[in-house]
Amino acid sequence: MLGLMQDWPLLCHRIIDHAAIYHADRPVISRSIEGPIHRTTYADIRRRALKVAQRLDRDGISLGDRVATLAWNTWRHMECWYGILGIGAIYHTVNPRLFPEQIAWIVNHAQDRVMMTDLTFVPLLEKIADKLPSVERYVILTDKAHMPATTLKYAVAYEDWIGEVDGDFAWRSFDENTAAGMCYTSGTTGNPKGVLYSHRSNVLHAFMASLPDSKGISSRDVVLPVVPFFHANGWSLAFSTPLTGAALVLPGAKLDGASIYELLDQHKVTFTAAVPTVWLMLLQDLEKTGGKLPHLKRVVIGGSACPRAMTQAFQDKYGVEVIHAWGMTEMSPLGSLCTMKPEYASLSGDARLDIQVKQGHPPFGVEMKITDDNGKDLPWDGKTFGRLKVRGPAVARAYYKDDSRILDADGFFDTGDVATMDKHGYMQVTDRSKDVIKSGGEWISSIDLENLAVGHPKVAEAAVIGVRHPKWDERPLLIVVLKKDQRATKDEILGFMQDKIAKWWMPDDVAFVDDIPHTATGKILKTELRERFKEYKLPVAATA
Ligand code: ADP
Repeated sequence: MLGLMQDWPLLCHRIIDHAAIYHADRPVISRSIEGPIHRTTYADIRRRALKVAQRLDRDGISLGDRVATLAWNTWRHMECWYGILGIGAIYHTVNPRLFPEQIAWIVNHAQDRVMMTDLTFVPLLEKIADKLPSVERYVILTDKAHMPATTLKYAVAYEDWIGEVDGDFAWRSFDENTAAGMCYTSGTTGNPKGVLYSHRSNVLHAFMASLPDSKGISSRDVVLPVVPFFHANGWSLAFSTPLTGAALVLPGAKLDGASIYELLDQHKVTFTAAVPTVWLMLLQDLEKTGGKLPHLKRVVIGGSACPRAMTQAFQDKYGVEVIHAWGMTEMSPLGSLCTMKPEYASLSGDARLDIQVKQGHPPFGVEMKITDDNGKDLPWDGKTFGRLKVRGPAVARAYYKDDSRILDADGFFDTGDVATMDKHGYMQVTDRSKDVIKSGGEWISSIDLENLAVGHPKVAEAAVIGVRHPKWDERPLLIVVLKKDQRATKDEILGFMQDKIAKWWMPDDVAFVDDIPHTATGKILKTELRERFKEYKLPVAATA
């Protein structure tokens, strides 16, 4: 027997309808690419998104067509998303931090028909345009006054382009399982892989992501998504913020500490989210300027492990609660968030931080397990680590145009992460399975060592890789970038780590470098570090 409830497909554009009706005048403030601060509202974003939909429709873009956006977080980018979604076309966010050849590869793989882009990326696109035959037209997200002279095919200023229609248009309706958006994983090895979200998965994920024990945003919040919309589905913020009716502040192209601080302060932001490297810049800026964060209540930190020292700085110095989060492009992207269940809620000081370094527990809609290499479930004792696998309505079951099987017999997706689970369901990532250091048959977590090293007051950033060792196969090498104008010795750094880890986890050596390479999504690029230190001889190994 079927239930007797209404058939109301979970379509993404219904989110902006909701915001435009019930939170119509809520401000959406952006730092425009042209410079000045721009203000609009959800009602206006919806009105203009309808024009985008109508204009795309007039250009013959329809259900299932891919429309690329190569753009920063601004109101125009958001209008594009909803306009594209509203006709059943697919927004494809392209990460501008990828190499130009990778961008060309991705656009060709997706067969994007239209490219919507910021002024920032016009020169980049001009260089690769001849390699993008599927792109029929370029829409530059600006107005006539700022429109550059360009060789891009049928280039048009966005404001002129939507100015040609009246907005008298109705969203299309279709099955909720229709493809909605596309995002490629950055693919540190091999070609990038396309993850294809559906309307249903995005809407369900936006609900999950907004719950009190997830991001917990409400209409009383002012949300600053520093994480770009092009990184892992923008961590759902382009959906969960209008869904909850919170006000939005969008940072445009300026993500440095001082620019972010200005937005946090002037617009009284209460909630923000980004990868650790962004917060490193902000905290360094605050240290220099003595700035305070009186309005900010919560900061979500994920994408890579959030160092203990960072959580401590936000909480103890600035009174901002840190929510450590874990996820993947393949998971829409949120998989777990470290909010406090009653079992841990009364903890304080170091005991609380011990929990906060974990990546947290999954919201409803994400199932997790850890297994050994044979797929056997491992105990949730907070110590045993194994392959982390996930299942749920917003988790990928296949990649775009790729036949490989990515689920196990029970329908779980192997995340490629190695993790522990504790008895209360808190997950902790020990490593990427390919980054874990295998020393004498035992595993050492590079993440734990990195987190510890950045706790040293002179250390700005740290990375740990396994280096060949004649006896132990691999031993950890700690690579350190010191804070500006600081000096330190190997013994000083290792001395700081002593007694905080098992003796055999202690790195065999410390290499001081000027910079650590990052991926297009801000993660430490271990493949390049391993290449750089390929010939490195550890002091013990040299004499052994
Ligand atoms: P990309 O692969 O494109 O860089 P993703 O965001 O999809 O971007 O990467 C997902 C991976 O990032 C996870 O599998 C995990 O290894 C890592 N990651 C994400 N969040 C965390 C976190 N809080 N702690 C440790 N690792 C994390």
